[in-house]
Amino acid sequence: MNSEATKVDLHLHTNHSDGYHSPVEVVDKAIWRGIETIAITDHDEVSALPLAIEYGSTNGIEVLPGIELSVRYKGLDVHILAYCFDYENEEFIKYINLFKKQRLKRAQQIVDKLTDLEVHIEFDEVLDIAGSGTVGRPHIANLLVAKKQVNNFQEAFDKYLGDGKPANVEKYSIDIQNAVSIIGRAGGICSIAHPGINLQNSDILDLIKFGVQGLEVIHPRHSQERVRQYRNVVEEYQLVETGGSDFHGGEKGENNLGNYTITYQSVNEIKRRTGFERK
Ligand code: AMP
Ligand code: ZN
Ligand code: FE
Ligand code: FE
Repeated sequence: MNSEATKVDLHLHTNHSDGYHSPVEVVDKAIWRGIETIAITDHDEVSALPLAIEYGSTNGIEVLPGIELSVRYKGLDVHILAYCFDYENEEFIKYINLFKKQRLKRAQQIVDKLTDLEVHIEFDEVLDIAGSGTVGRPHIANLLVAKKQVNNFQEAFDKYLGDGKPANVEKYSIDIQNAVSIIGRAGGICSIAHPGINLQNSDILDLIKFGVQGLEVIHPRHSQERVRQYRNVVEEYQLVETGGSDFHGGEKGENNLGNYTITYQSVNEIKRRTGFERK
């Protein structure tokens, strides 16, 4: 194990954010697909980590601490992955809690806007659907579908919840420099998530200047051409290549898991740069 041939997936979501499966289910699925090291990277949430890491260690799969942070850069909502930080770090936890509080406030504001638009759902119903997960627009969209206010998930975004649509409320987020320092002080390392979705090459270079040390090269939404291009950026700026399936499960897809992997070389590099040792 842990040879360069090991299958590694550093981008997985659980139902502690907007994934469909519990942490234990996600770890089990990764094992079944022959993956030997994973990182759980819920959106702005680390509550799945203790259980997933513990369950992984008793079942022969390495689970690294991770998170996918929403940060602000040039007015854009940019996703930054972070790895091998101390998820009990006081400053980090304070930030996560603030973020959660702001997300609840935002969900309430979205419900209010929907009410103004004569679309009636209750805030409590949103909370029920979100369960232990970070509350977000997908939960509200699912509720709108369940209550037959829209025909499907996409229509909820097209009519009400999408960026610039009448019931959307901008998400609270910190700027990229702050995020990188908080993760750095918690001992971790940051990587730019799925740059191919919304970033220009010049943006990537900016983020590197702010202290981001990794680039997500492998991702379901990256073409082979992108992968080649990003590998060159990794080489030129001595970054860590990261990658994974961005697995969410359920309607968002069960099939990516196992098909978007990187080698253990990246894990070694992350550990070298962070001095990470399993607790
Ligand atoms: P939130 O974190 O609450 O802003 O929700 C972000 C999530 O909403 C994304 O990860 C997508 O799953 C979904 N989403 C955002 N915009 C759209 C859109 N225009 N169409 C479909 N889904 C979207
Ligand atoms: Zn997600
Ligand atoms: Fe993302
Ligand atoms: Fe993701």
